Amino acid sequence: MWRRIAVWFWGILAILLTAEFCSGLLAPAGEIPVAAGTESAGAVALTFDDGPHPVCTPRLLDGLKERGVRASFFLIGQNIDGNEDIVRRMQAEGHLIGNHSQSHVQLTAENIREARSQIACVNGKIEAVTGSAPAYIRPPFGSWSEELESAVPMTVALWNLDPLDWKLQDAPSVVRYVLDHAENGSIILLHDVYETSVEAALEIVDELTARGYEFVTVDELLVE
Ligand code: ZN
Repeated sequence: MWRRIAVWFWGILAILLTAEFCSGLLAPAGEIPVAAGTESAGAVALTFDDGPHPVCTPRLLDGLKERGVRASFFLIGQNIDGNEDIVRRMQAEGHLIGNHSQSHVQLTAENIREARSQIACVNGKIEAVTGSAPAYIRPPFGSWSEELESAVPMTVALWNLDPLDWKLQDAPSVVRYVLDHAENGSIILLHDVYETSVEAALEIVDELTARGYEFVTVDELLVE
C-alpha cells in the first residue's frame, strides 16, 4: 500500500517537473520573465566632440559597432579634411553627425558674419561627404546667443553630464564619474580625440548596458 503511494508520488512529481521544464523551453521569447536588473533603466546619449581623429575615432566606431550602440558626433570642420571616410562610416553605421564649427572658435565672440561662415563651412563639408547637411550644432564651449539662435536654422544640442575627460585623460576616473551620475536622459559629453576617452566610453557602454540603459542618439532625447 505505502509502496504504491510512493510510486504514485514520484510519478506525479516527475510529470510536474517535466511539464515545468518543457514549458520553459517552449514558451515564446516574449513570455520568458526578464531577469531582475535587466529592465529598462532609461535612455542615455553618448556624444563626442572635436573629432574626427584618424586613430581614436575608428577605434571608437569599432567598439560601438561590436556593441550595437549608436552615438552622436559633433565634428570640427578642420578635422573632417582627410578623414572623410570616417565621416562616411559614421553615417553608414547610424550615428548622428552634428556641427562643432570649422576651427573651434567661440562663436559668440565672433561677429555674426564670421560665426555664420564658421557654421556654414562645416555644414557644406558634411553635406559633401554624406549627402545631407546636419540639423544639430554643438557650439564650442556651449557658447550660443539669441542673435545666433535667430540667424542659424539649426538645433543646439548641449549636454548635462560632463566628466571632464579632456582634462582628466584617465579612463577609470571618467568611467567612475559617469557611472555615479548617469540617469535617464543623460547626455554625456566626451571627446573622441583621446585614447583614454575611447577606452572610457566603451566601458561606460558595457556598464550602463548591464544596468539596463539604452543608448540613443541625442536627437531622440531632445525631441521630448
Ligand atoms: Zn569642442
